[in-house]
Amino acid sequence: MNNVPVEYALDQMVLEKGAIKQAAAYLKEKGCQNVILTADGNTYEAAGKELERELKAAGVGIRLCLIEPGPSGDVVADEPSLLQLLLEVNPETTDAVIAAGSGTIHDIVRFVCYKTGKPFVSVPTAPSVDGFTSKGAPLIVRGVKKTFPATGPVAIFADLDVLTKAPQQLVAAGFGDMLGKYTSLFDWKFSHLTAAEPYDQEVADMTEKALNACVEHVDEIGNRTEEGIRILMTSLIESGIAMLKFGQSHPASGAEHHLSHFWEMEYLRRGSRALLHGAKVGVACAEISRLYHNAAFRGVYPRQEPDMLRKHGAQVREWLGAVPAEAEIRSLLQRAGGPSSLQELGIDDGLFAESLREAHLLRDRHTLLRALNEA
Ligand SMILES: [Zn+2]
Repeated sequence: MNNVPVEYALDQMVLEKGAIKQAAAYLKEKGCQNVILTADGNTYEAAGKELERELKAAGVGIRLCLIEPGPSGDVVADEPSLLQLLLEVNPETTDAVIAAGSGTIHDIVRFVCYKTGKPFVSVPTAPSVDGFTSKGAPLIVRGVKKTFPATGPVAIFADLDVLTKAPQQLVAAGFGDMLGKYTSLFDWKFSHLTAAEPYDQEVADMTEKALNACVEHVDEIGNRTEEGIRILMTSLIESGIAMLKFGQSHPASGAEHHLSHFWEMEYLRRGSRALLHGAKVGVACAEISRLYHNAAFRGVYPRQEPDMLRKHGAQVREWLGAVPAEAEIRSLLQRAGGPSSLQELGIDDGLFAESLREAHLLRDRHTLLRALNEA
């Protein structure tokens, strides 16, 4: 697999019980002789160990790269982690790099593969985020989180035997990341209407379908049944592919993600242990729903009525009618087994108030949050 172009396309996607065995067969069939298996202590136990055994049995040489946790006790995609993996990659002999793990392990691998031109194979261990297929890697560089260009996986082997054993909080986080599509899809339409930002109906429909499937099966997801986990993982991957198709994050990321990013950056500044991405997004979605419903239906504004709301009120109310009210979003989060309030997350009132006023400044996007703050 040497000397292949860096721009790999996803050519294999397996979501079923025993998918790990197929990963080894795939790599063997592609002629891989030396691969790097990247994991952390937990994900090595969850999937890495079995994959290692399967690869050895298939006669594929492996180097194990167990990413060490940072000072906070979490594995983070920062300089030491990137260097740790980079040092294992041999420009001549490494045929592929496997990420067996969380979103963070994936970000480390996708960035290193992009820089070294090696194919990246994904073995997710929890249905926790929609970024498995992403071509951007959020990295922490000198204490600041920024997204850098990266490579998407050539193949994904999502093993239901592994995913159904993922901790409840990671499953609930994946569900929270999906629920966030309620407000991101609204904000996307709003930005198209009020600021002519690009829009793609097919991509929006694809994202909405994935969201609805998760909501319809929230109890199966909360109980981590095989069916629930299959639906959640499928939806997360479809949401990721929708973003790839569109080429930007509009379908899956609106004001709820901007709040989440704001909280994340403050936690980094404070040196606090990071909260799960989807846990933040789910709660932020409830808060944004409350703010938007209050503005559009009750005339409650942080400042005054934005011009765009006065001009397009009827359309905005029609779209917001499809976004569940705050209480319903919190109830869905609870049924999935995750945190449903700022208190449960540990976000204090001061940080929340600041984020409501300033989070829109983090991204160059015309959300309703921005319109409300700039009125
Ligand atoms: Zn997200």
